[in-house]
Amino acid sequence: MKKIVVIPGDGIGTEITDSAVKVLKKIDEKFKIGLEFETRDAGGTAYDKFGEPLPAETLNACKNADAVLFGAVGGNKWDNVKAELRPEKAILGLRKGLGLYANLRPVKVSDALIENSPLKPELVGGSDLVIVRELVGGIYFGDRCESEIHNGAERAWDLENYSVPEVERIATLAFETAKIRRGKLTSVDKANVLATSRLWRRTVTKLAEKYPEVELNHLYVDNCAMQLAVNPKQFDVIVTGNLFGDILSDEAAVIGGSIGLMPSASIGELTSLYEPIHGSAPDIAGKNIANPMGTILSAAMLLRYSLKEEDAAKAIENAVDKALSEGHRTADIAAPGEKVLGTDEMTEIICNLL
Ligand code: NAD
Repeated sequence: MKKIVVIPGDGIGTEITDSAVKVLKKIDEKFKIGLEFETRDAGGTAYDKFGEPLPAETLNACKNADAVLFGAVGGNKWDNVKAELRPEKAILGLRKGLGLYANLRPVKVSDALIENSPLKPELVGGSDLVIVRELVGGIYFGDRCESEIHNGAERAWDLENYSVPEVERIATLAFETAKIRRGKLTSVDKANVLATSRLWRRTVTKLAEKYPEVELNHLYVDNCAMQLAVNPKQFDVIVTGNLFGDILSDEAAVIGGSIGLMPSASIGELTSLYEPIHGSAPDIAGKNIANPMGTILSAAMLLRYSLKEEDAAKAIENAVDKALSEGHRTADIAAPGEKVLGTDEMTEIICNLL
C-alpha cells in the first residue's frame, strides 16, 4: 500500500482536499495503485486542538508517508496568535522537517481559459512551463541583522549564501525535469552583480556536461521577469534560487488566469508535499464555491513524482482539461452569465470523466 497523509489545514483546505481525495480514490479503482489515506491536523485547526500549528504526530506521520497532500493554512481567526504559533509556521516546519528543498510550479495555459489570462491570448496560448525554485537556502535562510548602528546610521542586513552541493541538488532536479519534458532549461541568476549567482552559474554550467540532451541557457532575473510577460512560450523549465524563485513563480502563476487552478510540488529528502499555490481563502470557506482544480492537479503531481504513476497523473490532467474544454466552471473562472458549479459538482464531473 502507498500511504498518503492528507493535511486539510484551514479555510477552504477541507473542501479542496476532500475533492482531491475523491479523485485519487477514483484513480485507485482504475489503476489499482493501492492508496491508503491518513488525515492529520496542521495550521490554525491544529493550534485550536493542540496549542501548536504543527504537532509532532503530524510531522512524524508525514515522515513515514509515501507523500503528503496539503490544503492550505491560515485565517483572520489566528491574527492575534504569537508569531511562533501562527498557522503559517506549519508550512515552514514541514519544509524544514521533511527537507523540502525544491518547489516545482507548473504553469500551463488551458486553451479553454485563455481569455482569463491578463496577457493577450496570442502571447500566452500554448505556454507550458515549470519553475523549479530552491526552497531551503539563499537569503531567506542566511544570517540577518534586524537593526544595528553603522557609521552613525541604523541599518539592517540579510546574508545570501549558496554552496556548490546546494546548487547541484536543485540543478540536478531541474535537468531531470527538463529531460522528461521538452529538453530546455533556463537557469536564472544575477551573475552580473552577485557572487552567489556567479557560483550558481558555474555550477549549473558544469552539471550541464552530464545532460547533453538538455539545452541550457542563462538569463538574468530582471530579463527573465520581462520575458515571462512578453514571451512565456519560450520557456520549458526554469531553475532559480529561493528569492528569485519566490517572485518569478508568482509572476508566472498569473499567466494561467486563475490562482485556483495552479498546483505545486515541494520535493523533499524524506518525502514530498503537494499543494495548490493559493492560500486558505477564508472569504469563501465553507460555501462549496472554491475551485478544487489546483488541489486535484497537485494530486496528479503526487502520482507523477512520488509514486511514479505517470499514466494515472496524465489521466487526472486530461480529465481536468476535458472538464474545462466542455465548459464546466467554478465561480472564479466563470465568465459573466456562465453556469457556475460548486466545489462538489466540479469534483463529481472530474471523477465521472475519469
Ligand atoms: P488566498 O490565496 O487564500 O486568496 C486570495 C484570493 O483568491 C481570495 O479572494 C480567494 O477567495 C481566492 N482564491 C484562493 N483560492 C481559491 C480557489 N481555490 N478557488 C477560488 N478562489 C480562490 O490568499 P490570501 O487571502 O492572501 O490569504 C488567506 C490566508 O491564507 C492567509 O492566512 C495566508 O497567510 C494564508 N496562505 C496560506 C498559504 C498556504 O497554506 N500554502 C499560501 C498563501 C496564503
